[in-house]
Amino acid sequence: MARSVLVTGGNRGIGRAVAQAFARQGDRVAVTHRGSGAPPGMLGVKCDVTDAAQVDAAFAEAEAAHGPVEVLVSNAGITDDALLLRMPEERFARVLDTNLAGAYRVVRRAVPGMLRMRRGRIVLMSSVSGLSGAVGQANYAASKAGMVGMARSLARELGGRGITVNVVAPGLVLTDMAETVSAARKEQMLAGVPLGRHAEPEDVAGPVRWLASEEAGYITGAVLPVDGGLGMGH
Ligand code: NDP
Repeated sequence: MARSVLVTGGNRGIGRAVAQAFARQGDRVAVTHRGSGAPPGMLGVKCDVTDAAQVDAAFAEAEAAHGPVEVLVSNAGITDDALLLRMPEERFARVLDTNLAGAYRVVRRAVPGMLRMRRGRIVLMSSVSGLSGAVGQANYAASKAGMVGMARSLARELGGRGITVNVVAPGLVLTDMAETVSAARKEQMLAGVPLGRHAEPEDVAGPVRWLASEEAGYITGAVLPVDGGLGMGH
């Protein structure tokens, strides 16, 4: 049955591939954007996840068109890398506010509708950096590790109501975000990837779609690495 799906940051990169994967199977998909509009065939709702009022308005628009959100993919995120001593508090806080508090805001807005339906699927986009840490990413890695604790707490809170909450942890995915990573660092990461290549957004989209499927209904509080083996052992 077609479901109402909302993907934050679904206008480009990994989020766009995720949104397309849901749309291809016939779901009604809304994507958030901050002015770029939506990919063809999808409903675009304008939203900055650092602003709870914009989150509320975006959900209201998506729900008016598609019904209560049954699948939420919290994917919007940023990096702002710097070594600790060159990272002022503002840069630490901005990344936490976007990645971690942003996820909190969209989940909080989505859950009442899911509780009423007594079903729902929530997938949070974390990162291998959140599990292994990375030089220059104290802010980003903290935000992504925080998602794991949040997801597992919510998995416990919401499991009895038929709502699953899971985390996906990609390795390096070739998107605009990866453009900010130096060639030397990319080479270094690649050397640690048993599958011998970086990911395309579609490599992440399939696992997200599956975690939100009926088949994955007995999986909650899980962290699914989609990293070619880069982070094995976490
Ligand atoms: P991109 O930089 O290509 O896209 C980032 C997306 O997040 C855009 O849609 C952007 O919207 C949105 N976004 C950023 N800030 C906000 C905000 N304040 N409010 C609403 N939307 C916002 O990144 P990716 O597609 O690569 O990354 C997607 C997710 O995957 C992120 O959470 C990232 O941390 C994670 N990830 C990425 C990896 C990679 O190697 N690429 C590896 C592991 C995890 P807009 O177009 O308006 O800027």
